[in-house]
Amino acid sequence: MEKFGRSKEGGEAESRSVPVRRLVFAGLGAVTVATSALYHDERGDTYIDKGFDQLAQMNVADRVAQLSLDERLKYDAVSNILVQKVGVTKIGSIVNSEEDGRRREGEIFQEPEIIDFEQTGVITNEDVRKATSSDFFPQGWIQQVGSIVYINSSNEMLVTGMNKKGPGSERDTITFFKFTMPHSEDRESMRYRMIGLMLGTLRHEVCHSNDWGTKSNRSFVDRIELLSNIIAQVESKDAYDGHPVLSDNHTYVPYHLSYGYANRAERMTAYQEYFADICRAYLSHPELFKQEYPKDWGIVDTWIKKTDPNFDTRKISPGPISGSTGELNDEWKKLFN
Ligand SMILES: [Zn+2]
Repeated sequence: MEKFGRSKEGGEAESRSVPVRRLVFAGLGAVTVATSALYHDERGDTYIDKGFDQLAQMNVADRVAQLSLDERLKYDAVSNILVQKVGVTKIGSIVNSEEDGRRREGEIFQEPEIIDFEQTGVITNEDVRKATSSDFFPQGWIQQVGSIVYINSSNEMLVTGMNKKGPGSERDTITFFKFTMPHSEDRESMRYRMIGLMLGTLRHEVCHSNDWGTKSNRSFVDRIELLSNIIAQVESKDAYDGHPVLSDNHTYVPYHLSYGYANRAERMTAYQEYFADICRAYLSHPELFKQEYPKDWGIVDTWIKKTDPNFDTRKISPGPISGSTGELNDEWKKLFN
């Protein structure tokens, strides 16, 4: 999700993938309901229904048993911190995402369906199609998105964009809401600012489709490593904090904490938002980001190269938005005129 402006109304978790092994849950539905209870653990986290947690634990144990020795060592090195920070149910949903990704293997790439951007009155479906090209994104990442839709009304939370994870192996839907735009008499200037906003939000949301919960052929251990690197980075002193240029003047500081950090569910959302934001900065301003936040840059770069080894960030530098004016840089205007 990406929110607009400075308000901190957050807390709403995004739609994530459907729980672990739906068939198993369907079969055990009655049992799950019967044992279902919220409980408080020793850290005060109000969290899990115990039946659900136990099934996830079994699922994770099954997956861990299949790992090679080398992978097992990597998993063991981070598993305690993961259980402590996000809980076993969330780790179970990562196993499930890996299974969904495997079901997708061999799928033929289709461009996302792009719907109703003409209703903005300023930009078109064709502009959005250009924004999904290899000039902007690793193409493997775009494959995770099934449709990109504009809805001509404001979301009450002032959300500019939202990513809804499709169930099972279905691709995700990214929804844009009516943007809150500074009024300008200059139509061309309005158009380029809108394209800049659209690009920034699209990057953030496509990054959500490509985190550790993505349904493509990332391995379980790679996913776990990414998540644990993000956790370490969020809690480090040099965490990315919403640099004005790198965030294209998207002014939450620090954005991910607008979602809270008090319990496991909130923390997982904060980690997802942190990843989406550093990934957006990587895609928007690769050189400046590398210089200012080398560790965050390295986390994203390693992750991209696992699936799209030839993706060249120099193609997308610099830009697209000038930190001083909030306008699209000249080089980028040419692409959209
Ligand atoms: Zn988000």
